[in-house]
Amino acid sequence: MTLTGAWATAWIVLGAEVISDNRAALNTLDREIGDGDHGENMDRGFQAVIGKLDALTGDAQPADVLKLVATTLISTVGGAAGPLYGTAFLKAAIATSGADRLDADLVVAMLTAARDGIVLRGKAESGDKTMVDSWTPAVDAAVAARAESDDVLTILRVAAAAADRGAIATEPLIARKGRASYLGERAQGHRDPGAESTRLLLQAAVDAAVGASQR
Ligand code: ADP
Ligand code: MG
Repeated sequence: MTLTGAWATAWIVLGAEVISDNRAALNTLDREIGDGDHGENMDRGFQAVIGKLDALTGDAQPADVLKLVATTLISTVGGAAGPLYGTAFLKAAIATSGADRLDADLVVAMLTAARDGIVLRGKAESGDKTMVDSWTPAVDAAVAARAESDDVLTILRVAAAAADRGAIATEPLIARKGRASYLGERAQGHRDPGAESTRLLLQAAVDAAVGASQR
């Protein structure tokens, strides 16, 4: 299978749902090592995107959807996460620009560009206890899966599973970027909220692809 604009739209609809369902949980994670607004920030941004999806035409390409998400998140989400996710979706849109359908190579390019955008913007390295600690294992796993398979669903599944493990692996870390870095050792034992929202969004990408494969 390949992934269409309809998949990208379904991804964002499911992503908005899962962010909304986890709004309180993301706030709680952010209350433990930040200022308690990550769920609120993400929910506000994704609800704003949902309000704009109708403006897309039926023949929208994946990049059109990704670009809409980028511009909306950048303009509606305060805090660190807005510009970071905004840049991720913008770079993902550029990487997939002009394609009606995303094959395995373009899916890997999309994920890689998203992660690279976050790193470019936020300058975090692996192990700094940020969303990069979900994104980078996801990208690495996607690249490895692509070497073995040309199935986009397999690649997305492997990436999302690696993001899950990456998010869990932030728990013992001391933060070196973002608000949590002010806490020193007190950040240990708490999962990074941005790594958690990344994990949720990548799982939504899988779920949207499963839905698309069944149509
Ligand atoms: P704020 O910290 O401004 O309140 P949010 O609470 O919405 O913004 O987002 C916090 C999340 O942003 C963190 O959990 C972390 O994953 C991510 N983050 C913060 N700074 C950086 C950075 N420099 N690079 C990558 N991710 C970062
Ligand atoms: Mg916050």
